[in-house]
Amino acid sequence: MRPVTYARPAGVAEAIAAVAADPASAFLAGGTTEIDLLRLGVTRPDALVDINDLPLAELTELPGGGLHIGALARMTDVARAQPVTRAYPGMSRALLLGASEQLRNMASMGGNLCQRVRCAYFRDGTSPCNKREPGTGCSALEGINRGHAILGTSDSCIATHPSDVAVALVGLDAMVHTDGPNGTRAISIHDFYLLPGDTPDREHPLDHGELITAIEVPPAGVAARSVYLKFRDRQSYEFALVSVFAALRVEDGRVAEVRLALGGVGTRPWRAWRAEDHLAGTPATAESFAAAADAELSAAVPRQHNAFKVELARRAVVRGLTQAMSGGRS
Ligand SMILES: Cc1cc2nc3c(=O)[nH]c(=O)nc-3n(C[C@H](O)[C@H](O)[C@H](O)COP(=O)(O)OP(=O)(O)OC[C@H]3O[C@@H](n4cnc5c(N)ncnc54)[C@H](O)[C@@H]3O)c2cc1C
Ligand code: SF4
Repeated sequence: MRPVTYARPAGVAEAIAAVAADPASAFLAGGTTEIDLLRLGVTRPDALVDINDLPLAELTELPGGGLHIGALARMTDVARAQPVTRAYPGMSRALLLGASEQLRNMASMGGNLCQRVRCAYFRDGTSPCNKREPGTGCSALEGINRGHAILGTSDSCIATHPSDVAVALVGLDAMVHTDGPNGTRAISIHDFYLLPGDTPDREHPLDHGELITAIEVPPAGVAARSVYLKFRDRQSYEFALVSVFAALRVEDGRVAEVRLALGGVGTRPWRAWRAEDHLAGTPATAESFAAAADAELSAAVPRQHNAFKVELARRAVVRGLTQAMSGGRS
């Protein structure tokens, strides 16, 4: 047994000060990741600062379009909010396909962005793992790596980022708003997730004590017909082997605008920039979609057990774009 202190401040400044003052402390939101890892001995905070009383749970529509989503808004509430289902159906679907109803009722948007990887070697608390204990090695490289990443990997870490909604947010160019010991800042979601490189223990650019306060989703007309498809070993309560967020606008039979992001294959929620470049102005056909997927996946580095993800991702991209083209119908 390890003693852990618990505090529940009512104000943002107080919460930030409490965590910033103690290098071994952590924020606690829904607790659906943090408490698991604490029990497993993977993280060892000596103080938990519960942020659930902070006024950060609102979802509002912005005057010029777009959404402001408080970091403490629950996954379920965001998924079912009318501005989300109307203007960003792919994001709503990404939320609803994550975890289980009970977990979604507890889990916050800020916590979702900061959830840790599901790599079994990371979570067992004992195997060599550069993410948990820098410099110890990566057990997944030569181990069971069926669920691991094929894009953005390094020799230090090949774990996939597990969040579904982060894939949609990457496709939507979201901004992450924070407040911390050094003041407020807005971080593009594209800069929020760091590639593992040789420092896989550092997953995002937040300073210790820096709190996510909100996520801003900019307006995007194309997102009104967005889709999110998730392919996994069972239909619920499971992380993605491959997932796709896709939004597409076609004019005169050609791709006029496209957003494409992948989950389950990257060490971070993966924006498929190469595929998007490839698609610009091409005929909106299954052949073009497959060629775009090939362009993106040409950078893939498959390992012993996860090579199937290359073909699965290729097919998922074609299906996602095809469904997006028909307004979400298959
Ligand atoms: C069985 C199971 C299945 C799951 N399946 C899926 C799935 O299919 N798809 C999916 O996307 N997710 C899935 N999840 C993960 C789940 O979505 C996350 O656990 C959840 O979103 C985390 O939110 P939370 O509020 O509970 O965060 P917490 O557990 O409270 O915190 C998680 C981390 O974020 C930090 N944190 C929390 N809030 C903030 C903030 N505002 N600012 C800065 N740091 C913060 C905490 O310090 C902690 O490090 C699953 C989880 C479980 C347990
Ligand atoms: S893939 Fe990453 S998280 Fe998994 S064992 Fe290797 S270093 Fe650790």
